[in-house]
Amino acid sequence: MEVPPPQVLTLPMVVPSKTLMGPGPSNCPPSVLQSLSLPVLGHLHPECTKIMDDIKAGIQYVFQTKNELTLAVSASGHAGMEAVLCNLIEPGDRVLIAVNGIWGERANIMATRYGATVHRLEAALGTNFSLTEFEDAIRQHKPVLLFVVQGESSTGIYQPLEGLGLICHKYNCLLVVDTVASLGGVPFYADRWGVDAVYTGSQKVLGAPPGITPISFSPKAKERIFTRKTPIKVYYWDMTILGDYWACFGRPRVYHHTISATLLYGLREGLSLVAKEGMENVINRHRMCMERLHKGIRALGLEFLVNKESARLPTVTAIKVPDNIDWMVVTGYAMKHYFLEISGGLGPTANKIFRIGIMGYNATNDNIDFVLKVLEEGINHAKEISN
Ligand code: PMP
Repeated sequence: MEVPPPQVLTLPMVVPSKTLMGPGPSNCPPSVLQSLSLPVLGHLHPECTKIMDDIKAGIQYVFQTKNELTLAVSASGHAGMEAVLCNLIEPGDRVLIAVNGIWGERANIMATRYGATVHRLEAALGTNFSLTEFEDAIRQHKPVLLFVVQGESSTGIYQPLEGLGLICHKYNCLLVVDTVASLGGVPFYADRWGVDAVYTGSQKVLGAPPGITPISFSPKAKERIFTRKTPIKVYYWDMTILGDYWACFGRPRVYHHTISATLLYGLREGLSLVAKEGMENVINRHRMCMERLHKGIRALGLEFLVNKESARLPTVTAIKVPDNIDWMVVTGYAMKHYFLEISGGLGPTANKIFRIGIMGYNATNDNIDFVLKVLEEGINHAKEISN
């Protein structure tokens, strides 16, 4: 053979145990980790499709929806964004994207690639949008869909959604929501709020590994997908066939792709833990942890990126890096001494903030106290170095 076996693969794999208190992934609970070592099943075996049905019911619960077209796509959160946009956009469609961080930017790129004419509704860094701003922009641009991020993890901004569905529907516009970083940390009611398409991340509050993304489409969104004039551009995300694999249309299941049975186990276990605890309790636990964290941040004399308290996302807190401090020294210190992940900024907030995530299994008082102690130590260490 011209390419010899790589020497590195003869050595054991190194996977340290870290505490992941960035904006995701979070640590998987022990029962999720155990589920990942169960035997792989075939993707059409009845035991596997039963697990898919359980997952579908769990996703309907966490999104609070009765949508038939509810499933999980086989890839990370970006795939949720790709899937909603490529199913709902036809070339030449006008779409409105709310941009106040990196995720709106990314949706903008994707929607443009699917041929949309994109109009941007922008808000300053660290601020969210009012219903009036949304309505004015929808009235002006007449989009077929509005894309909004409920929890902008690059800035720690929370976008309230109540009332937005009614506004969108008044103008015949679909409401699409990214809840990757927010679901389980704040309330979300797809049906009550008139959300037409939504997706979330498996690896955040739900506590499953990344790589499988819950997604759901309202009957109105489904109708739009089935009455398109042009084919859906990506076969892999085509809901008209993927929906049949997930038995969403009352027809026999058909093979679409070989789903990762392993990731299904992890997601089912994550959803099962949420169902047992109850969504309201999960949300309350995150809120209480956020309050504890924010009290500690204020006690350290640090400042939040988001001024308005009600606009702060419980799952991701953005803290301004103090003057003359190298943020990387702080995050490096936390990782080196404690195997603790605290993140820096992303996109427009790069170098400007620390981001601390409170998600799922990690949302405990002990973890909050731990992260505050290490943050303080790390900042003191960075000050010593800069003196
Ligand atoms: N949307 C938001 C709000 C996110 O926070 C993330 C991931 N941090 C994504 C989308 C993309 O998800 P992924 O990295 O799993 O592809």
